[in-house]
Amino acid sequence: TAFKALGLEENLLKAIADMGFETPSEVQQKTIPILLDRETDMVSLAQTGTGKTAAFGFPMLQKIDVNSRTTQGLILSPTRELCLQITNELISYGKYLPGLNVTAIYGGASITDQAKQIKRGAQIVVATPGRMKDMIGRGLVDISKIEYCVLDEADEMLNMGFYEDITEILSHSPKEKSTWLFSATMPKEVATIAKKFMHTPVEITV
Ligand code: AMP
Repeated sequence: TAFKALGLEENLLKAIADMGFETPSEVQQKTIPILLDRETDMVSLAQTGTGKTAAFGFPMLQKIDVNSRTTQGLILSPTRELCLQITNELISYGKYLPGLNVTAIYGGASITDQAKQIKRGAQIVVATPGRMKDMIGRGLVDISKIEYCVLDEADEMLNMGFYEDITEILSHSPKEKSTWLFSATMPKEVATIAKKFMHTPVEITV
């Protein structure tokens, strides 16, 4: 299939077929081969509804080690709704990856329950910045070994005033990692965080 040509493996292709996806979207065609091929930072200008969750989700799912219980991927997103939506999408895409645990961390729900989920060993954490910062501060989640970090809807997160939280969160992550930023618009605040947290990112526009 066209998804196979992007470099995706059988266990993901099976899930993609189950979802009924036939053709990779433009953002998927542009990002997936690059993100599978090498460790790089990336800035992608893409609206919601373009299939961007799969654009970062497929490569992340293919690259993480599901045999390890270590948190390897962090996705920051602006709202609880988006956080849950991304989590559910990743769980569907990863249904043939035995041992995969994707956990959602967001405000307005029990921190104890979320901490319990994390303790079970989440390879991927999808989080809103406020609650994530809180849980890192309390020692309830460890991102010191992440290899992949997605800043989703970066313009929205900055509009909502999450700059400080994002900076604080990322200060607990390793220097050496791949950061993938997605944004619908590129105001100077987004360009500033791209410059602060990324090194010579590949730039994609759809
Ligand atoms: P997103 O932009 O990530 O919010 O995705 C928008 C919607 O498109 C989601 O409901 C996905 O399940 C769906 N989707 C993503 N990629 C594809 C694709 N290649 N073909 C058909 N639907 C897709």
